Amino acid sequence: MPLEIVTIPCLSDNYAFLAHDAASGETALVDAPEAEPILAALEARGWRLSHVLLTHHHWDHVDALPAILERHPAKVIGATADAHRLPELGLQVAEGDSFTIGGDEIHVLDVSGHTVGHIAFHAPASKAVFTADSLMALGCGRLFEGTAAQMWDSLSKLAALPDDTIVYSGHEYTQANAAFAETIEPGNPDLQARIADIASARAENKPTVPSSLALELATNPFLRPQSVEIRDRLEMQDASDAEVFAEVRARKDAF
Ligand code: ZN
Ligand code: FE
Repeated sequence: MPLEIVTIPCLSDNYAFLAHDAASGETALVDAPEAEPILAALEARGWRLSHVLLTHHHWDHVDALPAILERHPAKVIGATADAHRLPELGLQVAEGDSFTIGGDEIHVLDVSGHTVGHIAFHAPASKAVFTADSLMALGCGRLFEGTAAQMWDSLSKLAALPDDTIVYSGHEYTQANAAFAETIEPGNPDLQARIADIASARAENKPTVPSSLALELATNPFLRPQSVEIRDRLEMQDASDAEVFAEVRARKDAF
């Protein structure tokens, strides 16, 4: 049985996730933006937290941890590289490490760029990856600490996961990302179709997270530096993928 994954809107535009293994009863929380909705989601299902997985040190991903642990003492897992600025960790992990939630192996990927030490959690058997502020729906995290080259390396690892992987990212920024994406690759019919889908989802106040990796590969301008249309528009026909990515990221910062 794959993990049952629940998306929990938090704060104004954050997402946390629960990943529950029915056979063992183990339940992991991914990131801790706000205690109340997370505790309510656990209570509604009668689940007890066994693990908390932290993607990176930003306040909107960790600040609710003490209030959650008070009610659900759980093992907190985060990056060795971030241990000095994360809450106390029960398990420190780095790229290549894995651990289990119930029967599912969770693989750790270093996806530095937004921050240095940001990690993603990939659950291959459940076809899920938790990317927080690295790969986002139709976007990618702003480069607060890392370089464009680091972020491109991180996105390339995520892009290489199986196409049918579901991407659980950290924020509802998709509509703003769509407005930007349309300036970068307006001739992409898959992008135009997705923009229409996003508009109708948001009009009904529905989340646009998670998304599929296949959809991101087809539409997300940050994953498409090989696109002829993008290269022509940026006049970067002969640049490397990393250089094209860096230019798209710079244009988003100025958008
Ligand atoms: Zn962040
Ligand atoms: Fe964030």
